Amino acid sequence: MAKHSPIEWTHHTFNPWWGCSKVSAACNNCYAEAWAKRMGENVWGQSAPRRFFGDAHWKEPLSWNEEADSAGRRERVFCASMADVFERRADLNAERARLWELIEATPCLDWLLLTKRPQNIENMVPWDGKWPANVWLGTTVENKFMAEKRLPDLLKHPAAVRFLSCEPLLGPIDLRPWMRKKGYKSIDWVIAGGESGHHARPMHPDWAKDLLNQCKDFDVAFHFKQWGHWVPAELLKETVPGNLVKFQDAEPVLMARVDKKTAGRILEGVTWDGIPRVAAALHA
Ligand code: SF4
Repeated sequence: MAKHSPIEWTHHTFNPWWGCSKVSAACNNCYAEAWAKRMGENVWGQSAPRRFFGDAHWKEPLSWNEEADSAGRRERVFCASMADVFERRADLNAERARLWELIEATPCLDWLLLTKRPQNIENMVPWDGKWPANVWLGTTVENKFMAEKRLPDLLKHPAAVRFLSCEPLLGPIDLRPWMRKKGYKSIDWVIAGGESGHHARPMHPDWAKDLLNQCKDFDVAFHFKQWGHWVPAELLKETVPGNLVKFQDAEPVLMARVDKKTAGRILEGVTWDGIPRVAAALHA
């Protein structure tokens, strides 16, 4: 699926700029920061500059839009893997305004805006309650505390699709109070996964299973992205020595630290690749 992106649930990725600063536990092992450092870019933290791009970069989505248009299909663009579109900094305002124009100029692309700063959305978008049909708006919810903090700020906005990234999943989350409001579906898509990387934190399998069951109960699309670098040892075909991992308020689990590919992305015997049906998801 990911023609120009390594992320399986999108076709393309587009970064209006590079650089960010950390805001919550999900950011602790930010892969984008590590990648930027490897590329020699010092763009992390509030006092660091951001990396900006020229016209050729900004024209790329216009050609993706033309291709999608001629092929008669819609394509998804994940924006942004190396930044947070809603980071509050004066030097990002002009780039953000350019991004909104680009989104409006590319109606065959569905733009996935995922943020850890949903409290800033209201004052940063120009759409004042009338969102373009090609914006999917999402926030990261890694635990119960962040669900309570970020979901109300996401659900204020009538974007065509509203989605959650529960990755890295760091604790149990009960989304039921937000799944359906006043008879309509308020969350359209949940992406869940464990953490990868050198300092990856294990995800209790019950946290992921519970999210899956909540999505089934409320007919919400569910995508299980990965176990990450820790997987329940019983799921591996080959015997790998495991560690008995203790979790707060949950049973310990024998987990094995393996590479991401070996850990795979099967949950309850199934690969979950759910994508929301856009027409069904339009919010009033
Ligand atoms: S908000 Fe995203 S890009 Fe920014 S530091 Fe956190 S994880 Fe990294």
